[in-house]
Amino acid sequence: MAQVKLEHITKRYEDVTAVDDINLDLQDGEFICLVGPSGCGKSTTMEMVAGLTKPSEGTVHIGDRDVTTLPPKDRGVAMVFQNIALFPHMDVYDNISFGLQLRDYDKEETDRRVEKASDIVQLEGMLDRMPDEMSGGQRQRVAIARAIVREPDVFLMDEPLANLDAKLRVHMRTELQRLHKELDTTIIYVTHDQAEAMTMADRIAVLDAGELQQIDPPLTCYNEPSNLFVAGFIGSPSMNFMSGSITESGLETEYFDLDFDPATVDSVATGQNVTMGIRPEDVYPVETAGALPEPTKRIGATTDVLEPMGDEIFVYLLLGDGEASMDMEGRGAGQLLMSVDPDSDIRGEETIEVVLDRSKIHLFDSSSGEAILHGMPSRQVAGERTGRETGETGGDV
Ligand code: ADP
Repeated sequence: MAQVKLEHITKRYEDVTAVDDINLDLQDGEFICLVGPSGCGKSTTMEMVAGLTKPSEGTVHIGDRDVTTLPPKDRGVAMVFQNIALFPHMDVYDNISFGLQLRDYDKEETDRRVEKASDIVQLEGMLDRMPDEMSGGQRQRVAIARAIVREPDVFLMDEPLANLDAKLRVHMRTELQRLHKELDTTIIYVTHDQAEAMTMADRIAVLDAGELQQIDPPLTCYNEPSNLFVAGFIGSPSMNFMSGSITESGLETEYFDLDFDPATVDSVATGQNVTMGIRPEDVYPVETAGALPEPTKRIGATTDVLEPMGDEIFVYLLLGDGEASMDMEGRGAGQLLMSVDPDSDIRGEETIEVVLDRSKIHLFDSSSGEAILHGMPSRQVAGERTGRETGETGGDV
């Protein structure tokens, strides 16, 4: 067990800054996921903790030691990678204990550690199997056991589940959480899969273009994303965005207006260009919005594509005249994704009215991308403003 501290860690290659001035302070026993799109610097950051890559600037501390210049073997870390490199001609026992044998551990101690590790990853009774007699998940567990027997201070895992099929990946997530509980060891886990990070981590460090965007518990990243990047990256399907500007009384978009409560008005500047964000589950058909304490006024929409998922239906809505420009997510200006109950009777190409949960509306500064606020708590505004939210599209819910 150990704390891990990265201070001003930077890695420059000739024409690219892979990691740009990152500070991370990991608690003893914490499970941290480094998450972000491909090429954002996750692996390079982890390699600098492991000692496989030398930082251009900055320091790495593990426990109370400055390990910045130490070789990997002296850092007290053990690694598990995406590509499970087991020795095909060795049985499970030898694969797990290979590192201990190299370091001349005696037979008794080796047996003790292999037994304990294989117990933790549930490989009892399989120690004399050969790798080609095992499934992908079992082989990955051998790789994890091989890391466990080292009894490291810190586990480093780089996309260890990426090569497994979807069902096994979900199962292994649970196993890794159990492993973490049992070993109580600091784990740094690299993944591009935000769902993996959300389900396993104590805290998520979100990276983009080599820079740390936010480090917080998963639900904080989900509910209070620090900027547009995090808002768009965390959550699947991703948040809806709509550009607009701040007027004296609220937010004006091409498709609808929202009044602000007085406190919100004070936190934004008139004329400021903003991006409004709302998650699909926070958009409601008018008929089911009754329980919402603070719905917005009605917004007219046409239903476009429906995606039944079994436990919910994703409904793509077209606002305004129904002419939407699509972006990479299949959503563009004038398009809103809504998640509804599977028993909803919504059909394609019908005209409906929807409302947004005001407490779940996010506002971001359009130019910096930084969050301005999460949730508009109340629409109890001065008398002359009430009714403006309606815009052209409807009355009170
Ligand atoms: P991730 O793990 O998030 O996919 P990486 O840390 O592997 O990202 O890479 C971050 C950036 O650094 C990428 O642009 C990648 O091309 C670059 N990079 C990584 N390793 C090298 C290297 N050895 N030489 C040059 N550029 C590299």
